[in-house]
Amino acid sequence: MLIVKKFGGTSVADKDRIYNVAERCLKDYREGNDVVVVLSAMGKMTDVLIEQAHEIHPNPPKRELDMLLVTGEQTSVALMGMAFDKLGVPSISLNAFQVAMHTTSVYGAARIKRIDTERIRHELSAKKIVIVTGFQGINKYDDFTTLGRGGSDTTAVALAAALHADKCEIFTDVDGVYTADPRIVPKARKLKEISYDEMLDLATLGAGVLHNRSVEMAKKYGVELVVRSSLNDSEGTIVKEVGRVERMLVSGVAADKNATRISVIGLEDRPGVAFRLFDMIAKANINVDMILQSIGREDKKDISFTVDEDSADAAEELLEKNREVLKAERISVKKNVAKVSVVGAGMMSNPGVAAKMFECLYNAGINIRMISTSEIRVTVLIDEEDCDRAVKAAHEGFGLED
Ligand code: ASP
Ligand code: MG
Repeated sequence: MLIVKKFGGTSVADKDRIYNVAERCLKDYREGNDVVVVLSAMGKMTDVLIEQAHEIHPNPPKRELDMLLVTGEQTSVALMGMAFDKLGVPSISLNAFQVAMHTTSVYGAARIKRIDTERIRHELSAKKIVIVTGFQGINKYDDFTTLGRGGSDTTAVALAAALHADKCEIFTDVDGVYTADPRIVPKARKLKEISYDEMLDLATLGAGVLHNRSVEMAKKYGVELVVRSSLNDSEGTIVKEVGRVERMLVSGVAADKNATRISVIGLEDRPGVAFRLFDMIAKANINVDMILQSIGREDKKDISFTVDEDSADAAEELLEKNREVLKAERISVKKNVAKVSVVGAGMMSNPGVAAKMFECLYNAGINIRMISTSEIRVTVLIDEEDCDRAVKAAHEGFGLED
């Protein structure tokens, strides 16, 4: 069997943890499997490096920032190689260059295009454990790129797909995917399995356990994922194709406090206005999430939308600068809002989930500011101070607790 095992930052935070990871990999290796290990940077290393960069430059050149960040993962794979050597096991550490992990050119947000598997296969056939840096790639200029925060999960899935691995395990500091964040809802339950689509929504909407692009890629290439703890032997959660998962009405509640609402008030009520607005925002590379347009009144309308907190200032600046062009009366920005979502594949065939969600929030006295839905999801935008209460209310209302 070929097994790809990915370990996150906390799983390799210090010497003992590194040996713990090595032992876990050894178990599979000794059973005769080929083992590829993907590692994140140790502990909070990536944050530390970003801080360091900002001490030198308030807005560091993106190429140089990536050049710096890739050292984090390079440190962990090298140390892991040393640990294996100490344990008397042949292994080799490889960075994105040595593997040849080709990505698009955008520094800080590159996407994996193609992975050469020749070197890895060669090392595996020499019976070595192959340790690969997560989160990084190389672009057509032969420069290092990074995949965005949390991107090591995506490296692991891409490798599993490219190598046609039999198993892809994502080890983290939690036991698996929960019906809600156990820090907010102590009665949250661990899911045995979940579909790609549900996981993708949960990951995108703030569940935090998996990089959302890793789930996208797993779905595309049919890589079954196991999310489990690096600290115990509990079974974890399997992420796989929907038909093979028991369809729960609602599988989980996710919250994202990192949202900002921007309202463009007093726009002209005629064709092309929304296009002009969102085209401008798209060209500035700002991702928009929920969108709400008010009913026109006296030839005027308002459009509100949400963006991530980190792009809020850029969006506000852009709109203020173009307020005349857009013929808007005023721009209003509200930062302390949160998105709370319920996700479940069973919604597709069961009406009334949205109503139930609204009832839960009403009973908790929480006001809804925006709503968006998909086939398998209901999301509401609420005040940030209501967020934890909303998650608890929805979790209880949908009967998800233990
Ligand atoms: N070290 C990187 C980060 O902290 C990548 C990862 O951990 O997945 O974002
Ligand atoms: Mg992560």
